[in-house]
Amino acid sequence: RAQRLTSSTTTIFAEMSALAVATGSVNLGQGFPDSDGPAFMLEAARQAIADGVNQYPPGRGIAPLRQAIAAHVLRHRGLAYDPDTEVLVTTGATEALAATIQAYVDPGDEVIALEPFYDSYAASIDLAGGVRVGVGLFGPDFRLDHAELAAAFGPKTKLVLINSPHNPTGVVLGEDDLAAIARLAVEHDVLVVTDEVYEHLVFDGAVHRSLASFPGMRERTIRISSAGKTFSATGWKIGWATGPAALIDEVTAVKQFLTYVSGAPFQPAVARALEEGDAWVAAATRDLQDRRDQLAEGLTSVGLDPVVPQGTYFMTTDVRPLGYDDGTAFCRDLPHRVGVVAIPHQVFYDDVEAGRPYVRWAFCKRREVLDEAVRRLGALR
Ligand code: PMP
Ligand code: GLN
Repeated sequence: RAQRLTSSTTTIFAEMSALAVATGSVNLGQGFPDSDGPAFMLEAARQAIADGVNQYPPGRGIAPLRQAIAAHVLRHRGLAYDPDTEVLVTTGATEALAATIQAYVDPGDEVIALEPFYDSYAASIDLAGGVRVGVGLFGPDFRLDHAELAAAFGPKTKLVLINSPHNPTGVVLGEDDLAAIARLAVEHDVLVVTDEVYEHLVFDGAVHRSLASFPGMRERTIRISSAGKTFSATGWKIGWATGPAALIDEVTAVKQFLTYVSGAPFQPAVARALEEGDAWVAAATRDLQDRRDQLAEGLTSVGLDPVVPQGTYFMTTDVRPLGYDDGTAFCRDLPHRVGVVAIPHQVFYDDVEAGRPYVRWAFCKRREVLDEAVRRLGALR
């Protein structure tokens, strides 16, 4: 095994989902919905397969999908990208992130990221030989500290990787946070990657703005999103990156040797969803907000005190009120004690002490599944 390969063989998500199956637990761990995306999108993929759309598509993605992505980003974020040169279809947001990091990070280069960070960031930065510089979104309030943010920038900073709405905390960065990041990125003349996979999953009238739309940012920002979250199709692995042509060219150069191209029959289906799915997404998000409230109420009823998120499909609790001081120990016990699976925050931190008491619960599950989880958690009291 190469020295730079420091991650475990199995991700926490795979490990906890396997544990859920083995113990017959309700799985509020891995973030995937347990109901399907829009029927017309599913039908479009079936039709594409029947029509013989089963061989290698173009490397950057089929033209109708690149056009639909560009139109969608323009409509929702006010950002104009040329579908021929400024849009790249990838195998999920994961590949867009990996290819971008491999394209730009040399050994020793520093990458600033919000900590807790999504697990693939740490692995991708390690594989490139980069050095992570975490900026804490730490409990109990999970707010960005602007002084800490400014202190993270230095002569070795190559790239800033921002995720909002943020996994695992559910934080949606405010206008002031994004403006501060933009100012620093311009001042230090660094590249920015913005992971916006949860861009449409925001609640209570919260507004998600793309970091790419702040002054001085478009020309230095690679913006990443994914059909997986927006259209409840995490298994299709269709994501994308948009940005200035010169930046997207470099990401494309790496992508071609990672996967070459991405899932042919899913591409026309996602194109249709982007074109015609706004009403479906709006209704699904309202429904998700109700389920967020349902789980928040349920967790409160068993003695936990959830941090109710403005975005994503995850909420966080501190497990100390239940007599644990360690979220990892809690998550390892929970399936055996009561038959529920959640994800410990600790795996998302370099500063493991900062993450120790927190646990993440996914609420992108059917109402009866959330009810059953809460019923089982009742036995903890
Ligand atoms: N970034 C974040 C913050 C995520 O939560 C996820 C999915 N869990 C991804 C990227 C990966 O997205 P995809 O499944 O499209 O590869
Ligand atoms: N992104 C999902 C989560 O945060 C899971 C993705 C995965 O299993 N790699 O739970």
